[in-house]
Amino acid sequence: MAEWDYEVFWEETINQLRANLGEEEFNVWFSNLKYLRAGEKTITVAVPSSFYRDQVKNRYQKSIESKLKELTGKELTVCFEVIPENLPEDEPVRPDALPENTGSGEKSGLNPALKGGPDGIQPKKEKKARPAYLREDYTFDKYVNSENNSFAANAAIAISKNPGKTYNPFLIYGGVGLGKTHLMQAIGNYIYENSDNKIISITAENFLNEYVQAISEGKMSVFKNKFRYTDILLIDDIHFFQGKEGVQEELFHTFNALLDAKKQLVFTCDRPVSELKKISERLMSRFEQCLKVDLQPPKYETRCAILKSAAESRRASIPDEVIDLISKNISSNVRDLISALNTLISYMELMGKPITIEIAQQRLRDAFVSPRQANLSIDNIQKVTAEHYDLNINDLKGKKKTKNIVFARQLAMYIAREITDYSTTELGQAFGGRDHTTVMHSIDKIKGQLLTDPKLESTIESLKRLIKEYSAKS
Ligand code: ADP
Ligand code: MG
Repeated sequence: MAEWDYEVFWEETINQLRANLGEEEFNVWFSNLKYLRAGEKTITVAVPSSFYRDQVKNRYQKSIESKLKELTGKELTVCFEVIPENLPEDEPVRPDALPENTGSGEKSGLNPALKGGPDGIQPKKEKKARPAYLREDYTFDKYVNSENNSFAANAAIAISKNPGKTYNPFLIYGGVGLGKTHLMQAIGNYIYENSDNKIISITAENFLNEYVQAISEGKMSVFKNKFRYTDILLIDDIHFFQGKEGVQEELFHTFNALLDAKKQLVFTCDRPVSELKKISERLMSRFEQCLKVDLQPPKYETRCAILKSAAESRRASIPDEVIDLISKNISSNVRDLISALNTLISYMELMGKPITIEIAQQRLRDAFVSPRQANLSIDNIQKVTAEHYDLNINDLKGKKKTKNIVFARQLAMYIAREITDYSTTELGQAFGGRDHTTVMHSIDKIKGQLLTDPKLESTIESLKRLIKEYSAKS
């Protein structure tokens, strides 16, 4: 059975009132209120006695309802239901423990005709499919807040609670590996968990690929319907659209259609909008219209907190001095931090030994040497890989299907995808004009081999080191 669920809004409402009222007053009147259930336009709350009910109604009903309106964008009425306090003090009253139809005039049952209404939060349902490309682990829970990103994170949370209303459209920008994708997907995950809104989460590159495919198959109307009839559209890495006119045109219309229908749009970009080149003027003005928040590299304390949280979620015990070592040596971005941690965790799992500061120093030497990976061109990756396998760089770009050439080619693509920020489409071009699906296939091949061949990982690590050294010199 579907149900309207406003519990998070209720919690947030009374939290905010708590700040306004002060602890003493809050404790007297609010500590005994319990959220019970909601209807389309009502929230029902338990009070311990009719005295309480009358007092709270008189004193606070208006402010509660106006806070709720602020948060949900809806006119919700708060109803009070007296549940005499013979329940143990700290055990919350659960709706399923109550008799049905307690007579407050509204029911939690939902008229099926109301399902999937056009705006705002929609009713919660049982199981539903997770949207494609939405990573389960990119949630607010796992996102460490710091002073550098708190504005962005708070705005993202507000959007999640009230999509299409609060900050729309919304754009997160900042350098590589600073958490743009994570934050954007956290919005998607929150909305996915808490509502029935239809969510599309996609990279700019895949948006382009689907667009091109739709054109070539004569299915443009399917494409348009897909993207214009969603409640939430998240597009990652919009800088990828630079110089791609056709898809910009399509995005412009999608943008307008969704905004007109008050649907939530969220974008990420690796630079400020003003620095984008080769974007049509009118699409540019749409991007300019977004609420723009930037992410900055984290400070030392935040780096430690991120590492601790990441280690914890992988249930790996890493000594504080190792956390300190990594945080001091890697400051440019979060992705490098996490990948250093992952190197240590893999080592620990493979060797069955705990990590000491000496091991960490030794294993992370290379990660510590290369500060920014700025010089890592695809060209250098190809040169070093080809040389390592006694091949010519043209073998990697060419069409030869000899086993060792195919392997070296796939490996170079895999490494390039790992240590640079080039898209699979760009990599395909650099590898002799191949299609992005070929690149994806190659990467999957190597991933598959990594599962069965324990030596491959160290080969890859030493190749990466060689590439970094070579790039530092060139
Ligand atoms: P971007 O999209 O900006 O390149 P990502 O969102 O892919 O960066 O983040 C890179 C990695 O760092 C991911 O594993 C992500 O989970 C992690 N990360 C980034 N910022 C944070 C943060 N504030 N708290 C926890 N993990 C973070
Ligand atoms: Mg990203």
